[in-house]
Amino acid sequence: MNQSITSKTLQNAEAMCLEAGVRLTTKRKRALSLLLNAPAPISAYELIDEYKNQYQESLTPMSAYRMLNFLVDEMLAHKLQSVNKYTACEHINCNHAHELPQFLICDTCKSVSEAGIKEDTLKKLKVDVTETGFSLNNQQLELHGTCRNCQSAQ
Ligand SMILES: [Zn+2]
Ligand SMILES: [Zn+2]
Ligand SMILES: [Zn+2]
Repeated sequence: MNQSITSKTLQNAEAMCLEAGVRLTTKRKRALSLLLNAPAPISAYELIDEYKNQYQESLTPMSAYRMLNFLVDEMLAHKLQSVNKYTACEHINCNHAHELPQFLICDTCKSVSEAGIKEDTLKKLKVDVTETGFSLNNQQLELHGTCRNCQSAQ
């Protein structure tokens, strides 16, 4: 992501936090900026390394997780459970309501794309799952495969 897009995204993120009554502190903003510029989702430990490289400051794992949890709670980032990594939300600059995300994770280049699940697909899925007697806590979908770029490189 280029510099001007990143700064616009950070501005929008700041406005979203203000509206939610929370503060996007400098540290949180830096963490989000690292996520936005990462070519693929990163783990908390990778964030600590990147933070140190960029800002010459060491974070404890505890504060890295706190920052990441904050970003996830505010829907500025998402946690990918299947790989235990974090990615910036792709819809920070959008005006539409955030849909329940489904993530398409490329197992070759590790890139992720975020797509909203259509309402009726979601309802069907919920019905099917509930019929088995299972109770869902989290409906986020993470689908693994090969992205378009990697397919054409093969
Ligand atoms: Zn999102
Ligand atoms: Zn969007
Ligand atoms: Zn790929």
